[in-house]
Amino acid sequence: MRSIRDVSEKESKVASVSSPFDQRTSQQRERELTDFVENVAVALHWVAEDGTILWANAAELALLGHSREDYVGRNIKEFHVDEHAIAEILHRLKNKENISNCQARLWCKDGSIRDVCMSSSVYFENDKFVHTRCVTLDNTAQKRSEDLHERLFAIVESSDDAIISKDLNGVIQSWNRGAERIFGYTADEIIGKHISILAAPDRVDEIPNILDRLIRGERVDHYITKRKTKNGRILIISLTVSPIRDSSGRIIGASKVARDITELHQQQAALRAANDALIRSNADLQQFVYSASHDLQEPLRMVSIYGELLQREFGGKLGSVGGEYIGYTVEGALRMERLLRDLRAYTLVSTSAQEPTEALDAADILEKTLVNLTTMIAESGATITMSALPRVRIHKFQLEQLFQNLIANAIRYRSGEPPRIHVDATRRETEWLFCVEDNGIGIAPQYKEDIFGLFKRLHSVSEYPGTGMGLAICQRIVERTGGRIWVESEIGQGSKFFFTIPS
Ligand code: ADP
Repeated sequence: MRSIRDVSEKESKVASVSSPFDQRTSQQRERELTDFVENVAVALHWVAEDGTILWANAAELALLGHSREDYVGRNIKEFHVDEHAIAEILHRLKNKENISNCQARLWCKDGSIRDVCMSSSVYFENDKFVHTRCVTLDNTAQKRSEDLHERLFAIVESSDDAIISKDLNGVIQSWNRGAERIFGYTADEIIGKHISILAAPDRVDEIPNILDRLIRGERVDHYITKRKTKNGRILIISLTVSPIRDSSGRIIGASKVARDITELHQQQAALRAANDALIRSNADLQQFVYSASHDLQEPLRMVSIYGELLQREFGGKLGSVGGEYIGYTVEGALRMERLLRDLRAYTLVSTSAQEPTEALDAADILEKTLVNLTTMIAESGATITMSALPRVRIHKFQLEQLFQNLIANAIRYRSGEPPRIHVDATRRETEWLFCVEDNGIGIAPQYKEDIFGLFKRLHSVSEYPGTGMGLAICQRIVERTGGRIWVESEIGQGSKFFFTIPS
């Protein structure tokens, strides 16, 4: 391996003999030069024609974290991240071409990468390649900061929002493409102009106020205001303005992010109007159903009462067919009455007051429900059991109705066996899960959603009496509390009705 002496000897001959430096012996000078090159803070290394590293100084080794034994003797190609680039560099050097300020990336001992700037000069003797001397400058920090800068710039430029900076006098300093798209001005047209150029005529006054707040170091967050585009269109804008500080912490300006929410604002207004209209028409409809079901009951009662009177007083004179017809009339009127009663109950769930703030004991309510169902339970020979039930926030009457409809169904839709019904509740994250389980006829899975619809029934009235409103009422009650209701069942396997109530 060549020493630093091989190159220093020849060059030292050109020095003048008059300086005190040259009055020392050539060995002294050589030692000093070797010591200088070895310890100078600039990273240096020499490579042979094929890329073998011949020598490296302490700064070079420190830069890459290698020991001398690790580094010297290996090929420089092993340390370059880009193999093609180093092959190209070696090729150029072989052709006597010096290389200056070439950007490269080198592997360090710990696996990290350093961005460097390299300059190499070739040393020839008698036209014969001796070695290449390379100076390596660490560029990593600068490269990172350039990359970061570039990335931030790209983020700002690609944003859909307008990102603008201004000085403390309100003079626009920078303007991204988003700003150009939203406001219609190009950067050239607007940089240097006052920010008030963007204010809608009725919002000019707020500009000084925003600037005052920024000077005090305050932020303006998601402030909804109006701004004007180049062609005079008024936009609804959500504005976030924050102070910009220099490295000493002094406020030197402000950055402003403006989002065009005009369309969103219009959509929200339209949605609000549609929602209000829907609430009004819903209320009207509810009122109509409520009044209709209430008012229709009276004439219906007349039909059934007079039908019964007719049957009692004149039944015999009308013959068997006449009696049968009157029977149908009375029966129809009674059924209609039941339907109207349930329809009213259904509309009443929605018109009841807000949810109660006091929780009530579900076990107490279930006990009361069972009292209401005493006759039905006794006649069917049903056994009803319950596990510990929680306190829940729901209207007393509605929980009673819920239990009553589910348990009455469990009894009505019984199989050949005496009904066995069990009620329990388990705690889930933010709710109570109730289950009413029976051993009845069960429900085919394809109907498990339909049965919650208005007037939806799976059987004829002659098979099982009912109006098809019980589960619809249950669903309405549960959904009002924010919960949901569903069934798990198979034909002949009994049913499990689940419902949740937020805890
Ligand atoms: P109704 O019982 O008055 O017909 P519901 O809305 O309470 O109305 O029930 C709808 C339908 O769901 C019933 O007609 C019945 O077919 C079915 N159903 C409800 N509960 C049960 C149950 N526990 N077991 C089997 N079928 C049921």
